[in-house]
Amino acid sequence: MNRIAEHIQMLRASLPEGVTLVAVSKFHPAEALMEAYEAGQRIFGESRAQELVAKQKELPADIEWHFIGTLQTNKVKDIVPFIHTIHSIDSLKLLQEVNKQAEKHDRIIRVLLEIHVAEEETKHGMTPDECRTLLDADLSALTHIHIGGLMGMATFTDDMERVRSEFRQLAALFRELKEKHPELADFKELSMGMSHDYQIAVEEGSTMVRIGTNIFGERQY
Ligand SMILES: *Cc1c(COP(=O)(O)O)cnc(C)c1O
Repeated sequence: MNRIAEHIQMLRASLPEGVTLVAVSKFHPAEALMEAYEAGQRIFGESRAQELVAKQKELPADIEWHFIGTLQTNKVKDIVPFIHTIHSIDSLKLLQEVNKQAEKHDRIIRVLLEIHVAEEETKHGMTPDECRTLLDADLSALTHIHIGGLMGMATFTDDMERVRSEFRQLAALFRELKEKHPELADFKELSMGMSHDYQIAVEEGSTMVRIGTNIFGERQY
């Protein structure tokens, strides 16, 4: 068995039932994705539109593609024809653009709202209050998206208590919004946890981990 397949099997064995593994394949070549595919992996995450479009053309049609990076409004139309889930919605404007393009393609796209909980300024996403405001607006015109939950990243640090506390905040917001918005029937996913912190994320209630390095090795930028 190859190394990638081994890593995937080990991860699967360590994740509780109900936690989805998104294999983050950005910067890795199509052959690496195929090794994961042959090990049974079908959900892949990419963070750059151009790279994603190129890989999608080349790889099997039954892959479920997730977009996890910063998404510019003008790139939405490039990924909408095939994207399954977008993890990185950080404004109403972006949500409206995804809906508009999805309608053109007669598709329904699952979106997650990205929340900024980390200390680092560089991290993207909405504040909890911005997210509350967004969900309090009348979104009934957005018929071609399903709001599937939240996504977030913890601060990149060795201080695992801080990481845990940020994941805990995110999980609390997730429960709050789920309770407050029963009309959002698809609000089920809490996407948190990467290679170095996924175990903590899972302990704090993650339903979806996004793992790259632990599967494919270090990225060559
Ligand atoms: C790159 C990336 C990941 C995966 O990171 P690893 O540390 O390689 O597991 C997860 N989430 C997002 C948003 C990313 O950009």
